[in-house]
This record gives sequence, structure tokens and C-alpha cells, in this order.
Amino acid sequence: MTFPDSHRSTGQWIGGAWIPGQRQAASLNPMDGSAIGTFADGGRDEADAAIAAASTAFERTEWAQSPRLRQTVLLDWARKLEAQAEDLARLLTLENGKVLVQSRGEIAGAISEIRYYGGLARHIPGHVLEVEPGVFSTMLREPAGVAALIIPWNAPAVLLARAIGPALACGCTAVVKPAAQTTLLTTAFLRALSEVPGLPPGVCNMVSETGHAASARLVESPLVDVLSFTGSTATGKRIMATAAETMKKLSLELGGKSCCVVFPDADIAATASRIAAAATIISGQQCTAARRVLVHGSVYDAMKEQLRAALAAIAVGDGMNPAMGMGPLIDTAARAQVQGQVERAFDLCDEVVLRGGVPDSLPAAGAFLTPSLVAHGDTAAFFCQEEIFGPFLVLERFEDEAEAVAKANHTVFGLSASVWTTDGARALRIARALRNGTVWINDHNRLFAEAETGGYRQSGLGRLHGYDAFADFTELKHICQNAGRVA
Ligand code: NAD
Repeated sequence: MTFPDSHRSTGQWIGGAWIPGQRQAASLNPMDGSAIGTFADGGRDEADAAIAAASTAFERTEWAQSPRLRQTVLLDWARKLEAQAEDLARLLTLENGKVLVQSRGEIAGAISEIRYYGGLARHIPGHVLEVEPGVFSTMLREPAGVAALIIPWNAPAVLLARAIGPALACGCTAVVKPAAQTTLLTTAFLRALSEVPGLPPGVCNMVSETGHAASARLVESPLVDVLSFTGSTATGKRIMATAAETMKKLSLELGGKSCCVVFPDADIAATASRIAAAATIISGQQCTAARRVLVHGSVYDAMKEQLRAALAAIAVGDGMNPAMGMGPLIDTAARAQVQGQVERAFDLCDEVVLRGGVPDSLPAAGAFLTPSLVAHGDTAAFFCQEEIFGPFLVLERFEDEAEAVAKANHTVFGLSASVWTTDGARALRIARALRNGTVWINDHNRLFAEAETGGYRQSGLGRLHGYDAFADFTELKHICQNAGRVA
């Protein structure tokens, strides 16, 4: 293993110091269940200490008023991460299971995103209006205060970068709460930040835990001004209800049920292989992963066969092995949940096209599950409606554009979708009609630091990535002055 031993155990990062936890928990490799290292298992007290440190740093350091300092810190952090990019990619595959090529892409994307926000740190302007003769309204974009960032395990590097980037760039101070499954990776990222000279103590803090007590405290604390959560819609709803008491700003990036709409003029073989890859990225554990494939009746049978073949051809195994296209799920508990949902779908669907399952040939303590494909006509079925966070696809058919749009929009989610056609006007027409935060044309899962992502409906609130992410972490202040006029 190439990553350093210092990444194998962690503490809590509070007020500028790494504090050993009183309790430690093991981080497990989902490939075989072996222990990779240990992390500090905290709770409410650690969350309170971290919130207090972030609050003091916001009030008493120059951070909130010094864009040049913020830029220097973010760019120095990116440089430090770049120097250990390969170690970080390997740690990500060990802890999360995703194949190494995906880990390398994610680490590079996260570093690029930190640089992007480092650049923007010095350009977060407001505007000034002369609203009446001699009366000036200055609209100032100010950091909102302490931002708590709850980060999931599926893409822990890039999802950390897209939240902490805008939060720190605009002058907020932060408390990060990583997912238990990927705490070593988040810690390795933040340890590099903690080594940047000039970062005032308490500007960024981290509390880790196996349970939810620290997370719950971040949501309820009156000293937290912004709560940024990436995770499931069910947890997002609970957070929203609890946060109502303190009326903090919420940035919620939640679940999805991405639909791919395929027209007869698309290249069916090429589209099938792209959709198979889009459905099995991170073993199907990406919020934007392809979940439903709506296909025009005239090419339905061809797509069914091509998609079955493309999914069946994906090699499943150790993410460190470059021959593999898909690694394990995050842990055996998640695998059991997904497997249960998939088997229930097998019982209820019109046709099982590809019956995935637990492969005999891989370690029994690993969390492997091979891809499945079912065909079904009724969009109300639970497996067309609920997010199943694993390698599972549903094939559906339509006969015209109106039916395609109606079926695709029959969902409570609205995160992302894709349209597959060579007719440019049709692509734009359908993209406009789909109620989603992102629509790809002849592509899927393309995400950029520069391009805002977020959900319509129950896929969330606010936007991350891009310039508009600053809206989630800033307040707009109106300063009004009657300067009068020169007589
Ligand atoms: P999850 O909802 O189980 O989130 C777990 C996190 O929530 C943990 O960190 C936990 O400590 C915290 N938590 C649990 N209960 C809490 C409470 N009451 N208050 C505050 N925090 C609490 O989600 P997951 O399984 O970790 O992640 C998978 C989900 O994330 C999927 O639904 C996926 O679609 C979604 N996701 C969305 C995006 C996006 O950009 N929209 C990106 C990645 C993942």
C-alpha cells in the first residue's frame, strides 16, 4: 500500500489542534471487510467544541474580511493535495471500494474545485444603486457565519470540495462531519488543509462519529448559521424539520432517480454501453446514476438486448484491479438493503432481463453485488419511484414525446436526467420539459466545478458547484445611506 501510515488513524480537528478521540472505531475495506485504520468516534460534546471554535474564528479572526488570505489558503491546500494525489486515490478505493480510475478522477476533480473556489474568493461582489437622488443602497454579499457540512461516503472528496470550497472562499468558518465509512479519506484531505501556514485556528474543524449525535447537534445548534447536507431525501427531511427551530440556512443535496430518455435516432449500441456505465458508476451509488431508461417502442427490443449485454459484461471485483469496471458497495449492510429491494423488484416486475446477485467467486466478507435490469410498464411501481442506491436499472417504453416527458416527470425527485437523440431541436425541447436540476444531452453524469448542480422537488434545496453556490453560504446585506447632493 502506498499511502502513509499517518492516514491510518485520526483525531478530531478542533480549534486548530488534532485531538485524539477517547473512543476509536475501525474503518473497513468493503472489498473484504478488513480493517484499514481507525478513526475518532465522537458525539455531541465534540460537535459543541467544534462549533464554538468555528464561531470564535468567525468573530475574532480576519478570515471573514480577508479574501486574499482565503485565496492563498485554498490554493496552498490544493497544491498540498496534488502532491499526494495518488495516495489519496488509493485510500479512496480502499475505504469506499470504487475502482481506482474513478478514485483518481474524483481526487483530481476535488483539487480542481478547490482551485476554482480559490480563484473566486477574490471576486464575490455586491452592487450599489442610487435609488433616489443622493440615496445609495449598497448591497453587500457577506459570509453567513458558521457552516456545518455533512458529507456522504459515495464521493467524499469531491462532495467535500464542492461544499467547503464556496463556504471557505466567501468567508464562512466550517465544521465538517464526514461519513463514518470514509472518515480516513476526509481526514487526509483536512489534515493537508491544517498544515497550510496562515490558516487561522478554528476556521475549519472536523468531528467524526459512528452514530448521529454530532450531526444532530450541528443541525440544532443556534450557533450554526448554514447547514449543508448531502445525503438521502429521508434524512434531508428530518434535518429540515429540526432546523426550522433555529431557521438556519439550508443547502440540501438529496436523492434522485435519474431517467435516460432514448429516441430511435440514437446509436442504440453506443447508448446502451454509455448508460450501463452511467448506472454502475460507484457501483450505482451516485445520486445522479442512471436508474430508469425510457426507450421509444421502435427500438425497445434492441435496447433491451444491448443494455443486458453491456451490464453483464461489466467485470465486478477489487477496485484496485485495473481490469475491473465495478467494485463492491460501501458495506454489507448497504448491500443487504439494496439486494432486498432488487429481489422485491424481481418478484413484481413485468420481466427480469438480467438477474444480478452476490457473486460466489469474490470474498464472502466483501459487499459485492452484480448489476440487474428489469423491464416494467407501470411507472407507479416502487422500483420506478424509490431511489435504489446500487447497480439496478429499470427499462420502460414510450411511443411519443409527450408520453416520454410525462413518464420521466412522474417522480418526486428532480436531480438529473439525460436525452439521447441526434435531433438537436428535439434534444432541447425534451431537456426543457424535464423537471430536473441537470439534463445531459447524449451524455450522463458529467459534473463540473463551474456548473451548478442541485435538485428540483424532493432532490433538494440550493445549488452547489459554480458561482451560485455562494448563495447557499452568504447573506445579502443592504446598507442604505442618504449622502445628499452637492448644493
Ligand atoms: P444518509 O441520508 O443516510 O446520510 C447519512 C448522514 O446523515 C450521516 O453522515 C449521518 O451522520 C447523518 N445523519 C443521520 N441522521 C441525521 C439527523 N437526524 N440529523 C442530521 N444528520 C443526520 O445518506 P447516505 O446513505 O450517506 O448517502 C446516500 C444518499 O445521498 C443517496 O440518497 C444519494 O442520492 C444522496 N446523495 C445526493 C447527492 C446530491 O448531490 N444530490 C450526492 C451524493 C449523494
